Amino acid sequence: MPRYKNGEAPLSDLVYLGPDFYLPAGTAARWAELRRLGVGKYGVLLVVTPGWNGYRPLDVQVRYKRELGILAAVPGYSSHGLSYQGRDCAAVDVYNWRSLAPSNESLAWARFVALCRAVGFTVDFVSPREEWHIGDFDPFNVPAFAAIVIKPETTAKPDPLEDEDMATIISSTIGQSFAIAGLVVPFTHPDEVRGTKSTAGLPVSIVEMPAAVHTRILDADARRRAADPAEVLPIVVYAEGGDGTVYIFDDGEVRYLTDPDVMNDLLARGAMSVTWPQHEIDSLRKQQGE
Ligand SMILES: [Zn+2]
Repeated sequence: MPRYKNGEAPLSDLVYLGPDFYLPAGTAARWAELRRLGVGKYGVLLVVTPGWNGYRPLDVQVRYKRELGILAAVPGYSSHGLSYQGRDCAAVDVYNWRSLAPSNESLAWARFVALCRAVGFTVDFVSPREEWHIGDFDPFNVPAFAAIVIKPETTAKPDPLEDEDMATIISSTIGQSFAIAGLVVPFTHPDEVRGTKSTAGLPVSIVEMPAAVHTRILDADARRRAADPAEVLPIVVYAEGGDGTVYIFDDGEVRYLTDPDVMNDLLARGAMSVTWPQHEIDSLRKQQGE
């Protein structure tokens, strides 16, 4: 039995991630890891579609149904409501997955699918098809992304003023940006700044600076991400229902991993491993043109 009746979870049981954006703890952790991988591998910060597009309370489902008609799920049955077909299920609508390969939709999709699977999200499970809609069928278990795939030697040294949990709002005449966990993300609307608050008592500091310095920070952040595509290790992929062949997923491509030393080295350095059905590996490889 699902933990909550659809759309009836108290918001206080969920993690607040932004205006109208709440997720259960396990899904919030997967979402954070998905975003981290998106930035680390492709320089793309995936964002949720604005609106109640994480957890969706029942009254909002009713409103969306009224506004969207046939396009919205019947209230009480949405996979955004924390139960779906008799199971726990959380969902997130990802606004910008196409940015993972801007001029190549099938490559963007392959990358998106692979990143989602690596962190435990299910794609393509509602009909009619919604590419942007991803699900988590284990939303209350916080995954241990223990072997986080960043190589120690390429990980930026933490700024002494800023530990991992310290968030900073950078403010200048060009606008505001949010700096957290080594990322710098511009706010695009004043409502986003107003909607950002610390609910867990974590420190948030506000730093005022000249526009020129703010610009240099954004430039440096972009350059660092562009210059360091190897910040994240490849993912080792085992085939389920296959012949024992091992693959690696790297830079959006699935390749054979033929050298066991390479595999052992990757795993020893903390590379993540995942198991995908053989037919899905085959279909990814087909999209790559192999
Ligand atoms: Zn959705």
